[in-house]
Amino acid sequence: MEQSLYKYSQFNIIVEETKEKVLLFNTYSLRYRYLNRVDFLDVYGKNNIDLGDVPVSIAEDGFIVPVLLDEIRRLKDDIQAHQEKADFMFVSIFTTLACNYSCVYCFEREQICQNDFMTTDIADGIIAFIQRRYADHEFSKPLKIKWFGGESLLNMDIIRYISKKLISNNIEFSAKLYTNGRLLTKELAQELKELHVTDEVVIPIDGLADTYSALKGCKEEDFYKTIQNIKDVEDILKIIIHFNVSETTKADVEPLMELLRDEYEIKSNIKAVNVAPQNTDKITDENSISFEDFHKAYDILMQCKATGIKRTYGCEARHPEYYVVGTKGELYICEHLIGQEQYVVGNIKDQSGKIDRTATIWDTNRVIDECGECPLIPICLGRCSSQRYIDNIDCERDKRIELTKKRILRLMADREKEA
Ligand code: SF4
Ligand code: SF4
Repeated sequence: MEQSLYKYSQFNIIVEETKEKVLLFNTYSLRYRYLNRVDFLDVYGKNNIDLGDVPVSIAEDGFIVPVLLDEIRRLKDDIQAHQEKADFMFVSIFTTLACNYSCVYCFEREQICQNDFMTTDIADGIIAFIQRRYADHEFSKPLKIKWFGGESLLNMDIIRYISKKLISNNIEFSAKLYTNGRLLTKELAQELKELHVTDEVVIPIDGLADTYSALKGCKEEDFYKTIQNIKDVEDILKIIIHFNVSETTKADVEPLMELLRDEYEIKSNIKAVNVAPQNTDKITDENSISFEDFHKAYDILMQCKATGIKRTYGCEARHPEYYVVGTKGELYICEHLIGQEQYVVGNIKDQSGKIDRTATIWDTNRVIDECGECPLIPICLGRCSSQRYIDNIDCERDKRIELTKKRILRLMADREKEA
C-alpha cells in the first residue's frame, strides 16, 4: 500500500561500518544504532522501501521516513512552532561601549567609543518601546533582558534605572549579564540579584594570568581578582565561565581547569567558546582556532565526558522578538554588528512593530534552503548567520560531519562505561 512505502532519510549519517554492520545516526530523531549490513543495504539510498520488508525499528529510529514526507518542510514547521511557543520579547541592551579592558578579539574594537554611555532619555525610550510591544502583542511569558557592553557594569546606573522602572511598572522580567567580572563584588552581586539578574552571568576567563592579561590588555592581578570575585558571588548569581579557545589559549585549558576547580574550588559551569574570525580581519590566525583543536579543548572543558547532541532552533538573532539596542537607542538584529551603521534596522523611538527577519540572513527558511542536502541541518541550522554571510567564513561541512561521527562514538563509549 502507498502509505507503507518509505525512503532513506536525508538526515542519516553513516558513523562507521564494517563488513557485518553499519552504525547510523539520524540528526533529526537523534537516534543511533548498528544495523546489520543486510538490513542497511535494504534501505540505503532507497525510495520505495516496503515497511513489511525491514525491521520496524529502522522506521522507529527515523532512519527511513514515509515517501510522502517532506523532511525539510517538517523541519521548517518544527522551528516555526518552536518560535511561536517562545512567546516573549528578548532585549539585549548595550549600557555602554566603554570598557576597562581591551581584548584583542573584541568584535567592538573599531566601533568602540570610550565615552559612549546610555542616558536615561534612551532608557525611557527602551521602556516605552517594551511597553508598546507588550501592549500590541500580549506576550504570555515574561520579558528577557540581556545587559551587554563594553563592560556593562561601568554603567551600573542605567541597569539600576531601567530595572527599577520595569519593576515599578509591573513588567515581569528576568535578566542575564555579560561582564568581564572585574568589578563584580559581593555587594553588587546581591543588588543585581534584587534587580532580577537571575539568568546567567557570563564571565570570560581566557587562559592563565599571563595569557589573560596579554589578551585582555590588563594586569595579571586582574586575573586573580576576577577569579576571587567569581568565587565570592557564585552562590548569589548563576555564573557561567566562558573560555574563549584560540591558538593562544588552548595550552592553558587543562591548567586553568585545575586552578579553577582544585585550587579555588569554583563550582560554576565552564563553557568552551570557539573564537572565530568575525567582522572582517580583526581576528587573526593566532587568536582564532582550528575546528579540530577547538573540539579537543571542548572535551577537556567538558570534563572529558561526551555531551549529547541536541537539535537546534538557531541563535537569539533568529528569535522573532529579539532586539539589540545600542547606546543611542539604535536597533540591530545581531549584537555582533553593534556600532555598524549599515546594520541598523531602526530606533526604539519610532519602532513599534517587530523587526521582520524574512529575506534577511537570519531568515531560518533561507538558511535551511541554502544548506541544501547537508545531513547536519537539524543540529547545525546554518550556524552563525553573521559569520556565514557577513564574514564569509566557510562552515567546513565535511569536518563538521567527521566531528559529529566522533562525538557519537565518544557518547557510545561513555554510555557503555556507565552501564
Ligand atoms: S552550515 Fe554547513 S554544516 Fe551547518 S547545516 Fe549548513 S551546510 Fe551543514
Ligand atoms: S548571528 Fe551569530 S553573532 Fe549574531 S547572535 Fe547569532 S550566533 Fe551570535
